[in-house]
Amino acid sequence: MGRAIVIVNAGSSSIKFSLFLERGDDLVPDVRGQMEGIYTFPRFTAKNPDGSLKTENSWPQGTQLGHDGSLEHIVAFLRTELVDDQLIGVGHRVVHGGQKYTQPVQVDSNILTELEKFIPLAPLHQPHNLTPIRRLLERVPDLPQVACFDTSFHRTTPPVAQMFALPKELTDDGIVRYGFHGLSYEYIASVLPQFDAKAAAGKTIVLHLGNGASMCAIDAGRSISSTMGFTAVEGLPMGTRCGSMDPGVILFLMDQRGMSIRDIEKLIYTQSGLLGVSGISSDMRALLASDDTKAKIAIDLYIYRIRRELGALAAVLGGLDAIVFTAGIGENSAIIRRRVCQDAAWIGVELDENKNTAGGPLISKKNSRVAAWVIPTNEELMIARHTLNLINKTKGA
Ligand code: ADP
Repeated sequence: MGRAIVIVNAGSSSIKFSLFLERGDDLVPDVRGQMEGIYTFPRFTAKNPDGSLKTENSWPQGTQLGHDGSLEHIVAFLRTELVDDQLIGVGHRVVHGGQKYTQPVQVDSNILTELEKFIPLAPLHQPHNLTPIRRLLERVPDLPQVACFDTSFHRTTPPVAQMFALPKELTDDGIVRYGFHGLSYEYIASVLPQFDAKAAAGKTIVLHLGNGASMCAIDAGRSISSTMGFTAVEGLPMGTRCGSMDPGVILFLMDQRGMSIRDIEKLIYTQSGLLGVSGISSDMRALLASDDTKAKIAIDLYIYRIRRELGALAAVLGGLDAIVFTAGIGENSAIIRRRVCQDAAWIGVELDENKNTAGGPLISKKNSRVAAWVIPTNEELMIARHTLNLINKTKGA
């Protein structure tokens, strides 16, 4: 009988999961799936590693399975999957580890209480990330559960990169730049040596361009700066988030337009970014396919802000050996990569058009001073590795 690890990524309206099997020194993906629309129109899908559909269920519109009901269904499904393998632990994606958690941690009820204290720092994600941990602690207290944080990888950034220019007491109170997408960056940093030994030992900017988008400056494998800050709103414009914006705009909207905090939250998290600017869609594919000028303007703004951040992060690094594209847009859109690379010609990126169209991994010319890569991210595998390592360590201790 082999060992198995389940990864859980719980959000406000969906719970995603992946099952990994230990095979020799490797963790092999077995099945991944999700329950979406958990409070509105629940639909369960599970897929094989090749992307083919394994199982599908749906519930009538208006069914409120919620987090508990959805977790029940996922557990029942996993029971049928885990015939020859024993589940040894569950790894959870948790958005916020505060200033304390620089590494993944095995969660008990005391640690869970500490993690709940970070809910105000990420009210839209943290409570949902923690719900399955609490439920499983109640139901199967002996099953090891590991929390892996989106913030941990950035705890190596120098203090000056973490600070806002606010009064010291606020900085001391944890109002600092945390940075997110850390599990994605950590994964890329872990595989970069296989692609580009020079960049892995040197200076790299990783562009995580998905629905959420950010960029990270990595020096010899360590994060030294990133575009996201106190929340996952700072930095680049995203699918529906506005990215960096003068805080005076928020004061103006509250003062002159009578907007409430909840109105502002909705505006900056769900009504802005590509969706807000284009008025068409948050989906890059839809914008690229549209001939509406508003779609073009949204893409132009997106590219412009990447250009600015790239310059800023290169300045922070004091040089650049490589850029790496990852996540949905970064991995799949040759057009966006081309425009970003053309804008980065000044710093030494020379795009190879054919390689870019073919999808990489190397998309720059052989003699390009700065290499450009496409490397698919794998946050689930990163969580699975951390979970296994921590369980092995605890058992060995
Ligand atoms: P999430 O941040 O939710 O994990 P993803 O990393 O899957 O999201 O990225 C989703 C984004 O990737 C969407 O904007 C989608 O349009 C974009 N995307 C996926 N495939 C392509 C493609 N072929 N061309 C352009 N954009 C793409």
